[in-house]
Amino acid sequence: MHHMVSANRLATRKFLEGPTMVSRIIPVDPFDLVIFGGTGDLARRKILPGLFRRFVDGQMPDEARIIGAARSELDTKAFRRHIGDALEEFVPAARRDKKHVASFLERLDYVQIDATGTDGWTALAKLVRTDLVRAYYFSVGPSLFGALAERLHEHGIAGRNCRIVVEKPFGHDLASARELNHTLAQYFDEDQIYRIDHYLGKETVQNLMAVRFGNVLFEPLWNAQYIDHVQITVAETVGIGGRGDYYDKAGAMRDMVQNHLMQLLCLTAMEPPARFEPDAVRDEKLKVIRALQAVEPTDLVRGQYDAGAESPSYREEAENPDSTTESFIAMKLDIANWRWNGTPFYLRTGKRMRGRLSEIVVRFKEPPHSIFDEDAGTNANELTIRLQPNEGMDLRVTIKEPGPGGMRLIEVPLDMTFADALGQDDDDVPDAYERLIMDVIRGNQTLFMRGDEVEAAWAWTDPIIEGWTKRGDAPKLYEPGTAGPEEALMLLHRDGRRWRDVKP
Ligand code: NAD
Repeated sequence: MHHMVSANRLATRKFLEGPTMVSRIIPVDPFDLVIFGGTGDLARRKILPGLFRRFVDGQMPDEARIIGAARSELDTKAFRRHIGDALEEFVPAARRDKKHVASFLERLDYVQIDATGTDGWTALAKLVRTDLVRAYYFSVGPSLFGALAERLHEHGIAGRNCRIVVEKPFGHDLASARELNHTLAQYFDEDQIYRIDHYLGKETVQNLMAVRFGNVLFEPLWNAQYIDHVQITVAETVGIGGRGDYYDKAGAMRDMVQNHLMQLLCLTAMEPPARFEPDAVRDEKLKVIRALQAVEPTDLVRGQYDAGAESPSYREEAENPDSTTESFIAMKLDIANWRWNGTPFYLRTGKRMRGRLSEIVVRFKEPPHSIFDEDAGTNANELTIRLQPNEGMDLRVTIKEPGPGGMRLIEVPLDMTFADALGQDDDDVPDAYERLIMDVIRGNQTLFMRGDEVEAAWAWTDPIIEGWTKRGDAPKLYEPGTAGPEEALMLLHRDGRRWRDVKP
């Protein structure tokens, strides 16, 4: 009882003092972070700019060091220059002053290394401090994961207090994911393996958990009795660009649904974990994946973008004139458990669409009986969790249209755009990568995928892909700059529902 009183007091005091949004930054323990593929695109665009921002915020202790390890022929000086350029390109000018940049770059080292050979490994082993937290970021293709793990082990710089971070794609199907898990397990325990899905690092995604489990308002309604359906959309305006080689073998199902959309679905649908702890959360997510039903062919729409006035077709971009790979996919899913029986989850994702949008929409049912006139308007609540643009949530509630003219109902948003609400500008919302990397250093796996979770997701994905391959289904062509093929709209229309607009 006692701590409840004091918690209330604290809340009252906070309320009286007004919001205190300046969070206290606690530096992490000193660490060595080795980035394999440290000269690559991901390192330049996301990993190092993210680390730089953590450094500026005082979260990186002075003793921390970042070691780039890649095939590129560079020395430490040239690597620092390379990363200095990356910061200039990817960190807004207002967020980097010369002093910070210079001091950050001093923490960088470089080792030229061959993941599959012998070059550089002795030098790396000498450089790495084994008495600190060590993290190895595998920012290279998955075909190199095994070789890296083995060599870290051979050179005595693996060991219990080190962690590895692995990037997507984690396997191509169940068999390859199993094999990858098996390879990594030869050298590392599961609690040392951090499989990144950067969607989990988004502020909003974590807020989904805060909103669901930190309030009494939502959870009692969070089930098939009160929720009509859920929509998850990840729409991109870009095409496959230079990634055709990889993408044409993967397609939207493997590239987006099996990992990112699946993670969003899990966090939306899971039962409350007993504690906000890595395995408690991941156990609940796993149960959702296992409860997913097979998708009927009639509940599935695949699409491929056609040529536009100014843009090439998918097939041209993929340089594969016969490609049947999908650049768009939409589906209706059933989760076979007590909570969700009868409430469908609709998923869609695609490239070259009308707008860039990632969101989860939870559409509640209409009140069981309306006391208002038929023409007063409809009223169903809707909670939107927006990952981009403008990370935030908005809850649509029904009110009376102000003014005279009788009882007319309108829906208005209770907008919770984080940046506005917290008095930050959009740049202040930490990037997914910076949060996740700090979690690695802190040893917190909550926002990383566990091996069995990834395998379960593939076990659900594989038969769907096998199904359309066997049937010889070709994707429907769709015009670029739209919401995908017409059939995807029908997927909801036939259930008397509609997708949210994808606005430019
Ligand atoms: P990239 O091709 O730009 O960089 C590859 C890096 O790996 C380079 O630093 C290169 O020197 C190094 N490398 C390649 N072969 C090597 C070897 N034998 N030994 C040592 N180093 C070697 O690739 P990227 O875009 O940075 O992607 C890295 C990984 O991250 C890939 O697995 C990719 O699928 C994944 N990923 C990338 C993005 C992205 O936006 N770029 C997004 C999600 C996941």
